[in-house]
Amino acid sequence: MAWDFETDPEFQQELNWIDAFVREEVEPLDHVIEHPYDLQDETRNALIKPLQQQVRDRKLWACHLGANLGGPGYGQVKLALMNEILGRSGCAPIVFGCQAPDSGNGEILAHYGTAEQKERFLKPLLENEIVSCFSMTEPQGGADPKVFKTRAELEGDEWVINGEKWFSSNASFASFLIVMAVTEPDETPYRRMSMFVVPSDTPGINILRNVSMRDGKEGTHAYIRYEDVRVPKDAILGGRGQAFEVAQTRLGGGRIHHAMRTMAQVKMSFDMMCERVLSRETQGERLADKQMVQEKIADSWIEIEQYRLLLLRTAWLIDKHQDYMMVRKDIAAVKVAMPQILLNVAGRALTLHGALGVSTEMPFAHQVVDAFFLGLGDGPTEVHKITLAKQILRGYEATDDLFPTRHLLKEQERARKKFGALVGPTDDEI
Ligand SMILES: Cc1cc2nc3c(=O)[nH]c(=O)nc-3n(C[C@H](O)[C@H](O)[C@H](O)COP(=O)(O)OP(=O)(O)OC[C@H]3O[C@@H](n4cnc5c(N)ncnc54)[C@H](O)[C@@H]3O)c2cc1C
Repeated sequence: MAWDFETDPEFQQELNWIDAFVREEVEPLDHVIEHPYDLQDETRNALIKPLQQQVRDRKLWACHLGANLGGPGYGQVKLALMNEILGRSGCAPIVFGCQAPDSGNGEILAHYGTAEQKERFLKPLLENEIVSCFSMTEPQGGADPKVFKTRAELEGDEWVINGEKWFSSNASFASFLIVMAVTEPDETPYRRMSMFVVPSDTPGINILRNVSMRDGKEGTHAYIRYEDVRVPKDAILGGRGQAFEVAQTRLGGGRIHHAMRTMAQVKMSFDMMCERVLSRETQGERLADKQMVQEKIADSWIEIEQYRLLLLRTAWLIDKHQDYMMVRKDIAAVKVAMPQILLNVAGRALTLHGALGVSTEMPFAHQVVDAFFLGLGDGPTEVHKITLAKQILRGYEATDDLFPTRHLLKEQERARKKFGALVGPTDDEI
């Protein structure tokens, strides 16, 4: 029997250190640093770099990476346990060198990059000397990449990229962008596109605007027009027509890492909800003594435990198979569950905090909106449900009989065949 739901004591010590470090040193940064990805911000560098060094010294830097890429290679289960702490703070992932989208972009550079691409882009990315952007979604559609129109055409020794991309997060801070473009228009839908590594100082990359998700906060999701952007022939990442395969390598990890960090947000709002209901009185008793409040606490706890088990089991499967495609179904399930759990728990916490809960003085309203962004980013919930159902149904077969295999009459007949001599004839047979 190999089922085990315990963290080994040695790693638990590391988690305890991370917990205290994030609470004391990292969470306060969220209130003084505008954009943790803005490497031009001197205040950001002065505050974040010494903390990154502490993490390196502790051998907890870039824990999503294997030893071959400079990480400790702890695997996804340990990363999940870390991320359910790091996800509490916007700055923590970057302090620990495992922030999106750089972690996913690093992963595909490691898988598909040439030696030169690794030296020029991957190495500094892993050290957080630079940050990156993944530029795939287009204004006319994100959920279906088959409608993408951005073209890359080979002219002599150069690819020339033209088109528009939408919600390219962190493009303004990035040193390079990974861009998906049509290179083989006559191929079958999933072989039409290739992936490119494009340095952000290449002429023709025009950011039309940065879209924001928060009132009054500067946006970071770029609407980009690529106009005659020229990159060398070898700027392609992977082979021609291989963009979907490259994207899947990246998105599998990206989705599960978001889900791990979401666990931290969910846990935080649950803790706040519990504190509140024990502290607040109405109509002569604590909120915690009211049964409809107790139901909210109980439902939240059950949903959190269910989600956490699904998440950790999926992380365990990734460690076991070392192949995201083999765990596609499970990752899709986690991706679908992630926005719902945040919406449910943050929504209840918001309600139980009353007017304070809806205000900008508490995090719940943001978390509720974040739940919708989590349901969209890396593909909408509906699409992942389709993937999940298709994968599940591959494990089943149709029957060509008019009645289902487990039709009660068939079951009874089977039982009679097996035990007929012992149970005697049926009423009809007498
Ligand atoms: C915060 C945030 C950050 C992002 N960062 C990036 C980034 O860095 N790089 C990047 O390339 N993209 C990024 N995106 C874009 C994201 O990947 C897309 O928003 C997503 O793929 C959905 O595309 P869309 O917004 O065009 O929605 P659409 O494709 O227009 O879909 C809209 C809605 O239609 C429904 N729908 C779509 N398809 C189906 C279907 N098959 N069946 C049933 N219903 C369906 C769903 O309800 C879906 O939400 C980001 C998005 C967000 C919100």
